[in-house]
Amino acid sequence: MLNIGCHLSCSNGYLAMGRQAVKLGANTFQFFTRNPRGGSVKPFDRADAEALNVFMKEQAFAPILAHAPYTLNAAAADARVREFAYRTMREDLERLAYIPNAMLNFHPGSHVKQGTDVGVRLIADMLDEVYTSELPTTVLLETMAGKGSEVGRRFEELRAIMDASKTGDRLGVCLDTCHVYDGGYDIVDHLDDVLAEFDRVIGLDRLKAIHLNDSKNPMASHKDRHEKIGQGSIGLDATVRIINHPQLKRLPFYLETPNELDGYAAEIALLRNLIRQP
Ligand code: FE
Ligand code: FE
Ligand code: ZN
Repeated sequence: MLNIGCHLSCSNGYLAMGRQAVKLGANTFQFFTRNPRGGSVKPFDRADAEALNVFMKEQAFAPILAHAPYTLNAAAADARVREFAYRTMREDLERLAYIPNAMLNFHPGSHVKQGTDVGVRLIADMLDEVYTSELPTTVLLETMAGKGSEVGRRFEELRAIMDASKTGDRLGVCLDTCHVYDGGYDIVDHLDDVLAEFDRVIGLDRLKAIHLNDSKNPMASHKDRHEKIGQGSIGLDATVRIINHPQLKRLPFYLETPNELDGYAAEIALLRNLIRQP
């Protein structure tokens, strides 16, 4: 069975997202922990989180994915930006401790002219400070497209964060299909080679989630523009190979395609129909 969901808005709370996911034919979902471009957050509703936990158990949900705000940048040169990253990551992890089925994904950060090595060190420092051992959530580093000074385009950069942080053993990776293709990894014509490279550098056991998106731009464009499934440069055939790949097919897939809810429901139905039965 394909574990698939899409990005949902948290504006009506946690349980509402679970119910919405089921309506769309999904058995998981992704949501922003807070305003993605600002960072403001609603008070935590523990009863609502517990209601979602019960609902997800009843519905046999695959792990859900919380996404940190885009403004979280521990690699920033500005100390106030770094301080926001520390506080936000800590608060989000404290909340997610009440939702055991959730993982937390974040964009590693942008080094803003300080260089990748400094960026890696700053990201690792943040994780060492806030991702303490009593926090149960698995934190995922997202593979990036390499826009601007983003850290995490190359698998080696994610490996470097894991190696630099005391929390490295607890970190996983979320592979974004648009980002890796845009970043220069040819998952269309050489998927097996890319996965072998991932395994060599990071280890496929660390791969915990897939952001399933098509891309508006050709390979290695470094632009990060998502497209609807089958309508971009990755295309439907390559997407079908990805969701059926023996090393990927059991992972949770999250759509971040430019869609309203009906478009997501259609993509979920399409992809469920394209799973090859063993
Ligand atoms: Fe992301
Ligand atoms: Fe993504
Ligand atoms: Zn993206």
